[in-house]
Amino acid sequence: MKILDIQTGRISLPLARPFKTALRTVEALSDIVVRVVTDEGVGYGEAPPTAVITGDTDGSILCALHDYIRPALMGMDVMDLPACMEKLNACMVHNTTPKAAVDMALYDLWAKAQKKPLYQLLGGARTSFKTDITISVNPVSQMVEDSLDAVKQGFDILKIKVGKEGEKDVERIAAIREAVGPDVQLRVDANQGWEAKEAVRIIRAMEDRGLCLDLVEQPVPALDTDGLEHVTRNVETPILADEAVFSPRDAENIIRRRAADLINIKLMKTGGIWNALKICRMAEENGVECMLGCMLESRLSVAAAAHLAAGQKIVTRADLDGPSLCAVDPYEGGPEFDGAAIRMTDDAGIGVRNVPCEFWS
Ligand code: MG
Repeated sequence: MKILDIQTGRISLPLARPFKTALRTVEALSDIVVRVVTDEGVGYGEAPPTAVITGDTDGSILCALHDYIRPALMGMDVMDLPACMEKLNACMVHNTTPKAAVDMALYDLWAKAQKKPLYQLLGGARTSFKTDITISVNPVSQMVEDSLDAVKQGFDILKIKVGKEGEKDVERIAAIREAVGPDVQLRVDANQGWEAKEAVRIIRAMEDRGLCLDLVEQPVPALDTDGLEHVTRNVETPILADEAVFSPRDAENIIRRRAADLINIKLMKTGGIWNALKICRMAEENGVECMLGCMLESRLSVAAAAHLAAGQKIVTRADLDGPSLCAVDPYEGGPEFDGAAIRMTDDAGIGVRNVPCEFWS
């Protein structure tokens, strides 16, 4: 299965409501789509420019794809997946988003050739699972309203964005807990918004108020591993590393130091499924459970993450709400996203088709 071309297009989708975190506000999704063309069919991937997290922008993604990745992979045989992945990862450093888009397109082709849904080839741990949904940072009353709305839509795990207003976040979470009751699971994502000592104070205050959090995600800046370790050692609530872990090497460092209890894997941070599997193996060996997360992505690339989450036993949590945040889904085939439920289908590969873009070489 010879690679004949790597093409790019663009997909723009309105969001159901603006997405707000401690780092940014976004009204619509606009992502680059990749099509890998071979002599035996095509595979698809998606690259969301998320400059505040990955550093990857529209321009850098296109440049990486056209000037580095395409020339490196042209003519290679997709069925020799290790060779393709080695080339993809060696052709330039960083640029994890365009690498992820090509990685998933290659996995799509590789699994299609074997006429199997990808998750079965990645371990086949489960056929369905639940995702949480993100509640954006807003005034407390709005966040309570959004939370109740999400519960009404059938979500029983909420991931609440905080980190912009220090101690006030305690009241924010308390108000949401009171509104949704004890049966809804709450996850809190500070997106690097706190300093280590501040984080300990805030999380302990939440514990003292009996707010029962499933986890707190990335309380401190990404590079502050000492701070992350300090928080993890000094609170009861499980701490999840997100922005602190991009590569398998980052994961190894966090695991070795036990600087976090859990790891959030995102394909756009790892550079795709190939590297994500390395983190899964390491996590499994050390008994560190993982969450599979996503950026603001449409169902095309979130489907790839869903295959990994369904494949790997060590992935015990999913934050794959991208498709639920979009107002429309233009695709056909692949995993079904039905509110909180994600169900794998028998479609071969990643399975998403009818990608409505014009593609250029
Ligand atoms: Mg996060």
